[in-house]
Amino acid sequence: MRSEFDLIQNLKFRFALDRVGDDCAVLPKNETHDMVVTADMLVENVDFRLNWTTPESLGNKALAVSLSDIAAMGAGAVWAMLSIAVPELLWNSEFVDRFYHGWHQLAREFGVELVGGDVSASPNGVVIDSIVGGEVVKGTAIMRSGAKPGDSIFVSGSLGGAAGGLALLETGRKDAAKMSDLILRQLRPRPQLAMANLLKQLGSLSSMIDISDGLSSDLGHLCTASGAGAAIHAEMIPVDVGLGGVFDPDRCLDLALNGGEDFELLFTSSEKNIFLPEPHQISRIGEITSNDGIIELMVNGHASVLEPKGYRHF
Ligand SMILES: [Mg+2]
Repeated sequence: MRSEFDLIQNLKFRFALDRVGDDCAVLPKNETHDMVVTADMLVENVDFRLNWTTPESLGNKALAVSLSDIAAMGAGAVWAMLSIAVPELLWNSEFVDRFYHGWHQLAREFGVELVGGDVSASPNGVVIDSIVGGEVVKGTAIMRSGAKPGDSIFVSGSLGGAAGGLALLETGRKDAAKMSDLILRQLRPRPQLAMANLLKQLGSLSSMIDISDGLSSDLGHLCTASGAGAAIHAEMIPVDVGLGGVFDPDRCLDLALNGGEDFELLFTSSEKNIFLPEPHQISRIGEITSNDGIIELMVNGHASVLEPKGYRHF
């Protein structure tokens, strides 16, 4: 079966779409700035379950996932269009009002203005389409495609928490306070716009992507776009400390490597050491290689090929 990534590659080739394939499309805006635009779709029982989240958290996440893509370009968010299709039963409840309330909580925090959208009835399940636009100084958007052999690979924050939270929701384990932190990482992701802005000011970033599918997959996307490979070190990966004691050590590493939706930043730089002010946390996890398309994982000095096992729809 062809993957969603095969479809995108095929469309790019058939219709000569050279702007497609990064976290955002970059379009010329005026003499000084480019516009960036991203679209995300959230489908009930695929991307979320109504009995695991609240309408407010769902609205919050619908915006957060798009803001994360804006951050990954090193851009600032400006406006949004939000479309939603809901079954009639939900339309006649508080769901829609609470959903927009949650959306606006995050929008106010990041100065994003809702400028339009669409509302539709759905025969079955909620479908949300989030579009966010922003801007960046002309020619300075950070693409996935700029990584070069020898560059260092970094990630922000910690990894695996959101996937750990999802695993807890799936198994109905949500008793202890420790677990609620993981569940919050799944239901209330934080877009890393402030961190991306600081990183961009360093001037040494060669590529960036946000971790939505999972480190193994998103590093794969970055390497494919850059025509390069990567070698990463298991002991350098910032595994979410909340996973310890809830999952066994192998599962913790698996969640950090392959679990999605942490919405942290994955980026490369010609610099080996990058320091950011508190509370921003970044970790150097490896280096870009000329091993085109191959990601090596080093565990205790032993190398193996890391297959992309992050989330995919098809
Ligand atoms: Mg992305």
